[in-house]
Amino acid sequence: MNTKLLFFLCLAPLLMACKGSKSSGDTPAIDSALVCKVQFDADSAFHFVKEQCDFGARTPNSTAIQRCGDYIVAKFRSYGLDITEQKTTLKGWDGTSLRCRNIIAAYKPEAKDRIVIAAHYDSRPWSDQDPDSTKHRLPVMAADDGASGVAVMLELARHIHRLNPAFGVDFVCFDAEDYGAPYWAPESARNDENTWCLGSQYWSKNPHRPGYTARLGILLDMVGGRGSKFHYEGFSLQNAQDVAVRVWDAARYAGAADFFPQANGGYVTDDHIPMNTIALIPTIDIIPFNPNGGFTPHWHTTTDTPDNIDPATLRAVGQTVLQFLSQEKL
Ligand SMILES: [Zn+2]
Repeated sequence: MNTKLLFFLCLAPLLMACKGSKSSGDTPAIDSALVCKVQFDADSAFHFVKEQCDFGARTPNSTAIQRCGDYIVAKFRSYGLDITEQKTTLKGWDGTSLRCRNIIAAYKPEAKDRIVIAAHYDSRPWSDQDPDSTKHRLPVMAADDGASGVAVMLELARHIHRLNPAFGVDFVCFDAEDYGAPYWAPESARNDENTWCLGSQYWSKNPHRPGYTARLGILLDMVGGRGSKFHYEGFSLQNAQDVAVRVWDAARYAGAADFFPQANGGYVTDDHIPMNTIALIPTIDIIPFNPNGGFTPHWHTTTDTPDNIDPATLRAVGQTVLQFLSQEKL
């Protein structure tokens, strides 16, 4: 994903002022009867991060991403979910043909009313934000920027039968999110936000089932970094403010309020853009905000490895989503 630096911070306070979101000063008490009894296991989620990284960097067209895709399919299937694989070939900014495989794991596939939870599982082929410029052409291991979102989804899927929501849930693993043009690409490619999020653009234009829709979506991106904090993301507020407010409130119930400040972050180009604008599913992005820029210190660098994943961050996000799903009514 890519940050829209142009909009960073300047529009966000205005937006919140206009739309009148809650300030952190007047938070209501927690009704303990509503606290979700199902517990997210952070160690299990961390294990899922490591297992994905053990395949190596999951860059498009690599053996590693093929094997990791097989692993993701097998895992969701072992939790009793219904799998659809969507395969196609897409074109990268540099003309490379990219084998793309979106993986959709459905809980209660027959239910009409659905919630979609999504994350990308590909690795960026270039560590173009690394402080050491000799490493810019090396792939990102993507423990956080890829594996963490899928790991949280797998851990959610492991518990979904116990949670037993009345609605269906689709876990969508997008391919080819992070192939966006690096700084050495031609200017036309660098200015084109559509070089990012190729898998989700394809899925949004060609849903895995004809006429597919969902009542809302939650995108998870970089949800495991040590020290990460998740502020409101700008496009999420524009398209799905009520979802954002409910998720941030669920974070309080999940004991994760410190990870989810009720404050504005930046505007991010990410898979939720095509989900909102093409698939027309109101979708929020849970993504870290770093006031110094760049999401996290390891973003798009060679240090995005399991060492920089904190199970406490995975738990904060996972328990928040579990809490949200447990409170969501038909
Ligand atoms: Zn990325």
